[in-house]
Amino acid sequence: MEKYEALLQKNQQYLWNPFTQMKEYLREKPLIIERGKGVKLIDVQGKEYYDGNSSLWLNVFGHNRKELNNALLEQLSQIAHSTLLGMANVPAILLAERLVQITPHRVQKVFFSDSGAEAVEIALKMAFLYWKHRGKPEKQVFLSMINGYHGDTVGAVSVGGISAFHHAFDRLLFQTEKVPYPYPYRFPGTEQQCIETCLAELRKKLEEKADQITGLIVEPMVQGASGIITAPKGFLTEVEKLCRKYDILLMVDEVATGFGRTGKMFACEHEAIEPDILTVGKKLTGGYLPVAATLTSDEIYHAFYADYREQKTFYHGHSYTGNQLGCAVALANLNLYEQENIIEHIQNTSEQVAQWLKEFYQLSHVGEVRQLGLMIGIELVKEKESKKPYLLQEIIGQRVCNRAKELGLIIRPLDSVITFLPPLIATKKELREMLYILYQAIQEVTEGE
Ligand SMILES: *Cc1c(COP(=O)(O)O)cnc(C)c1O
Repeated sequence: MEKYEALLQKNQQYLWNPFTQMKEYLREKPLIIERGKGVKLIDVQGKEYYDGNSSLWLNVFGHNRKELNNALLEQLSQIAHSTLLGMANVPAILLAERLVQITPHRVQKVFFSDSGAEAVEIALKMAFLYWKHRGKPEKQVFLSMINGYHGDTVGAVSVGGISAFHHAFDRLLFQTEKVPYPYPYRFPGTEQQCIETCLAELRKKLEEKADQITGLIVEPMVQGASGIITAPKGFLTEVEKLCRKYDILLMVDEVATGFGRTGKMFACEHEAIEPDILTVGKKLTGGYLPVAATLTSDEIYHAFYADYREQKTFYHGHSYTGNQLGCAVALANLNLYEQENIIEHIQNTSEQVAQWLKEFYQLSHVGEVRQLGLMIGIELVKEKESKKPYLLQEIIGQRVCNRAKELGLIIRPLDSVITFLPPLIATKKELREMLYILYQAIQEVTEGE
């Protein structure tokens, strides 16, 4: 307890946490984590918690995993870091090869960075310059999705569509065009009408402006940060067709959905989508180190490939781009994907989870349960019949998550949507226990008043 109090005091004095209202955080006796073991986190007082959001959608094989630790130690005995600007290193080359092998066919070149947001910034800059190099500099505008999320840097927020994040920085952002992503639960009509309405708006936008548009950026199959909004089957296929028809680039942001989260290695595989640019991050290193990447087609790569004097060099890079420790642990992580047959494991466990999740509809304030693979969102509503939402000031999601924490499960809300993205390795038994806690927390908080 003394240790905890001392650290908390220093947190208050020195540390500003991300996405956190510090005043409330400090009042609520925050967790201070010291260790991790499998799918659990252990705080400085020795209390264990299920890591029900995979430490922000990152963790795959649990914490403190022997094979990943060893890969790091081995790399450390060689070198921790040297630059990728104008030279290369062993694990970065091998990881690039590996990524090209496992991603959709069209993307063939890998550009590394350190976070999902950076991977998106790079995608945007590449798309912008691609058209310039191809002699179509009038193509300058990005098309993106309402309620989309692509990270917190200024370019990524510009193509983002979550109003709470977007409006705060309004004047800082560049102009983009926005089209709707299907959200059938909140659409006044059938699912089919919802898709058709969204596609009609996309088609209209392209008819009007395709000659000014660089490309469309989209979260494939599931919009994550806006509330785990799962797109109906067939939507992405139609989006791809329209991008091809109107000659704009298709950029898919697989930062959240990639590496098995949705039950396929990449969400694009659900509908055999072939993007021009694909961004990855999050689970790439198994949740160990910050490595992200932007993959592009050969066609885009070759638009930049020229003699020095043509000035087509892609001027972008970061201090730690291609970091050896990060790339080495990513390679070990991808090896474990094969050894552990993790995709099959997720398909198994997520089917079972789907069965268990049906029980949640018995709760009087569960409006909709959305799931693709192990990406799960539970939308809480004040009134089931009318789908009347909770008010922001009721902070219903946060209250449910606070109760879950007391019961031993760490999860995070997105407003009134409770998100559940457990580590991919979680067993049925562990998932069952996590869901028990989640059920109890929702029941107590929403029905207990
Ligand atoms: C998390 C996320 C990002 C941002 O990644 P960071 O590593 O947090 O910068 C981008 N796109 C999507 C779809 C994400 O879920």
